[in-house]
Amino acid sequence: MNRWRSLAAVGIGAAGTLVAAAVGTSRQIRLDERPEALQKADALLVFGAAVWPAGPSLTLEVRVDRTAQVYREGWAPVILCSGGLSNGISEAMTMRRQLVERGIPASAIIPDDGGVTTRDALRSARAFGAGRWKRIIAVSSPYHMHRIRRESARQGLEVVLCPAFRSGPSTAAMRAFDRRQHRREAMAVVSYACRSRLDAAIESPLARVPVAAVRQLVARVKSFAGVADAVTDASDAIGDLVKSASNEPSDAQTALTPAAAGLAWPVQDLVTSFFGLRHRRLHAGVDIRAAYGCPIHATAAGVVVATPRLGPYGNVTIVDHGGGLSTVYAHQSGVVVTEGAAVRRGQLLGYVGTTGGVQAPHLHFEVRVHGSPVDPLAYLSAQPVAPVART
Ligand SMILES: [Zn+2]
Repeated sequence: MNRWRSLAAVGIGAAGTLVAAAVGTSRQIRLDERPEALQKADALLVFGAAVWPAGPSLTLEVRVDRTAQVYREGWAPVILCSGGLSNGISEAMTMRRQLVERGIPASAIIPDDGGVTTRDALRSARAFGAGRWKRIIAVSSPYHMHRIRRESARQGLEVVLCPAFRSGPSTAAMRAFDRRQHRREAMAVVSYACRSRLDAAIESPLARVPVAAVRQLVARVKSFAGVADAVTDASDAIGDLVKSASNEPSDAQTALTPAAAGLAWPVQDLVTSFFGLRHRRLHAGVDIRAAYGCPIHATAAGVVVATPRLGPYGNVTIVDHGGGLSTVYAHQSGVVVTEGAAVRRGQLLGYVGTTGGVQAPHLHFEVRVHGSPVDPLAYLSAQPVAPVART
C-alpha cells in the first residue's frame, strides 16, 4: 500500500513539474515572439510548414513572404529552405518555388530536406555553413522563436530571430489556431528539454557502451530484415525510369565508349566505396565523400529524367545524356533541378546530404548504360584526387 502511495506521489510530482515547466515556457514563448532588430547575416534560414496536396498552408506562405522581404532588404545573401516531407511533398522545394514566384533568384536559394525538426534544421544550417556562416537570420512563426533561440544556443549558433506575422486582421478561426499552436509549442519545448537531458545521459561515458552496442544490433537486424531488398528495388526502379525515358531500343549500341565519355566529377573528393559486389550484392555506383551541403554538378550535358525520393537512395536525380548513357545522384539533401530540365555539363543539380538513411554525408553516384549500372570510374575523366583504399 505504502509503495503505491509513494509511486502515485512520484507520478503526481512529475506531472506537476511538467505542467509548471509548460506554464513557464508558455510565458517565455510570448516574450520571444517580439521581433528583434535585424542584423546583417550570412544566411537566412526559413523553417518549413505544412504543404497539402492542394497547395502550401497559410503558415508556410506567411514565412515565405517574410523571408522574401528580408532578402530583398539585403540582410543576407542566401536563403536556406529547411523542412521535411509534408503529405509526401518536399516543404523545402515548395518554399523554393514560392520564393522564385516572388522574384527571388533561384541561385540564392538552397533547398534542404534534412530539416524535419528544429534541431535538425539548425544542424543542417551549421553543416551547410561549414563554419563560414557566423550568423543566421531564422524565419518562422512567432510561437516557434523561443524553441529556435534555445536550440541555436545549445548548438552554439548565432541566430537573429525573425518572426513572420500574418498581415491583416485575424479571424476567430485563425486566433483559435494560434492558441492551439502556442499550447503545442509549450509542450514541444518541454519535451525537447527532456530529450536533451536524455541525450546527455546517453552520451555520458558510463552509458555509451551498452547503448552503442544496442544501436548496432538494431541496425544489423534492420539491415538483414530488408534494407538489402529495398536497395535492390530502388535500383531496379531507377533502371525502369531510365529505360522508359529513353526512346532507343535497349539493345542499341551506346554511342559512347567508356573512355570517350570523359564525364566530369560531380563533386571533387575521395572515393570511399567502389562499384562492385559488397556483402554479396552489387554496389551499383561509387560513394564520393563530401561535406554536407557540398554542391553536386552535372557530369555531362543532358536532360533530367526524374528527381524521385527513392527509399534507401534518398533524394535522387537521374540525368539522361543520350546514346543510352545516364547518371544517378543519390542521398542529396536538396535537389534544385526539375524533371524535364535540360542541364549543361557542370550545372548545379543539388547538394550532398544524408537522405535515404546513410550515416555520413556522401554522394552515391551511378553511371548506367541502357539502365544497367556500370563502373563509374571507367567513365569519369582522370580523377583530380587519388582514391583511397578499398573498404
Ligand atoms: Zn553507395
